[in-house]
Amino acid sequence: MDPFPSLRQLTDGLARGEWSSAELTKAAVQRAERLGGPLNCFITLDEEKAMSAAERADRRLGTVCATPLTGVPLAHKDIFCMEGWRTTCASRMLADFVAPYTATAMAQLEDAGAVTLGKLNMDEFAMGSSTETSCFGPTANPWSLEHSPGGSSGGSAACVAAGITVAASGTDTGGSIRQPAGFCGLAGLKPTYGRVSRYGMIAFASSLDQGGVLARSAEDAALVLSYMAGFDPRDSTSSKHRDPWLEAVPHAGVGELEDGHLTIGLVKEFFADPPAGAPLIDAARRSLEELGLRCIELSLPHIAMAMPAYYVIAGAEASTNLARYDGVRFGHRCADPQSLADLYERSRSEGFGAEVKRRILTGTYALSAGYFDAYYVRAQKIRRLVAQDFAGAFAQADLLLAPTAPGVAFRRGQLMDDPIAMYRQDAYTIPVNLAGLPALSLPCGLQDGLPVGFQLIANHFDERRLLQTGAALQRATDWHELRPSLDWAEAA
Ligand code: GLN
Repeated sequence: MDPFPSLRQLTDGLARGEWSSAELTKAAVQRAERLGGPLNCFITLDEEKAMSAAERADRRLGTVCATPLTGVPLAHKDIFCMEGWRTTCASRMLADFVAPYTATAMAQLEDAGAVTLGKLNMDEFAMGSSTETSCFGPTANPWSLEHSPGGSSGGSAACVAAGITVAASGTDTGGSIRQPAGFCGLAGLKPTYGRVSRYGMIAFASSLDQGGVLARSAEDAALVLSYMAGFDPRDSTSSKHRDPWLEAVPHAGVGELEDGHLTIGLVKEFFADPPAGAPLIDAARRSLEELGLRCIELSLPHIAMAMPAYYVIAGAEASTNLARYDGVRFGHRCADPQSLADLYERSRSEGFGAEVKRRILTGTYALSAGYFDAYYVRAQKIRRLVAQDFAGAFAQADLLLAPTAPGVAFRRGQLMDDPIAMYRQDAYTIPVNLAGLPALSLPCGLQDGLPVGFQLIANHFDERRLLQTGAALQRATDWHELRPSLDWAEAA
């Protein structure tokens, strides 16, 4: 079998009895054990749980209850609660937390018969762009171990790029699916806000957090999304929007690009300071034109303010969301507290890492009585302006094209002492989260041996055009077929 099969190939082989889920799962566990050491992409790998899920899936295959995901091993960002699984958010605070219930998006995948192999490394509480703030140590990029896989869903990106699983879940609050997908040569889909339930997904910034998927192709990402998505009464911001196209994806695939003459808007501000790999992104644009899409240039005038506004809003929401970790009900508790204040203070000091503390402090400051209007309210106004910019752009274009990140994967350690430089990694991804839009990062070649990504951005709930365009591009090009050599694994 191709060591980098597509999800459809796995599904077809399972349906034809060419391999069983137990065989696939065993092979994935072995690959995770062999590559997982140098990559450090798993926080928890549970062969026993995975094998028993695989055996259940094997009994279901061949019956009318089988779905295209039945028996397929997947792995999940350790931000999703899964009953009986340790769920850590890569934080000392939750290092021993075993979730008592399962996140809706994960339950839907498991109900479809997907096998959970394990839980993947990430930046602590999803705050970061390099997967270096994890209390379980950093994750490496399969394309080059000295480089970061991006973050915060870096464990997910490394796992899929190394061919351990065909897809993995991630979350994207400011770019955490798309930037690691870009750094690791993958398709990374951040759905419309409200498309995937946040229930059971540990909260960072609730008005921005959105679950999604990393895979090797747009087609595979769509298939996984079709099982993660859907209205959930347990998430008050979950959308009731129904999408017959997405519901048909498991059987019909994403389909051909339905409306041939789409217009793609090139966001002028995003290319003002040419990103690394600009010629490759330009080649992707030309390929889109060859498919019949028309490109126009347009402007998002307030986009430069998006990043500062995001760090105020995300910090403010994080400071309130993370107030629950007080050492009383769950999470890390300090030894021998002398008083209630001492319990709070030491539990939180010991449980949270430096970046998380920075977010809590800046967020609390932005919400404090004297500064609320100057920071939080202003940031919300900017958020509205950014959303209006996008609304204006979608009056002219069906999709927007932008770089995913300012550069290719940076070296591990390179940005750890410079939080602002780290935050700039998300300059192109953050505006999309502020506006709640869906976006898809796709690979478009290598620069200095490292992948370059670009993103397509669509209007709310227009994942159909996003994924059909991505899939059409991938049928016409082969950037998504590029694989890391993994020569470090042979040497190990
Ligand atoms: N890197 C951004 C941050 O640190 C985005 C993180 C995310 O999308 N979870 O906030």
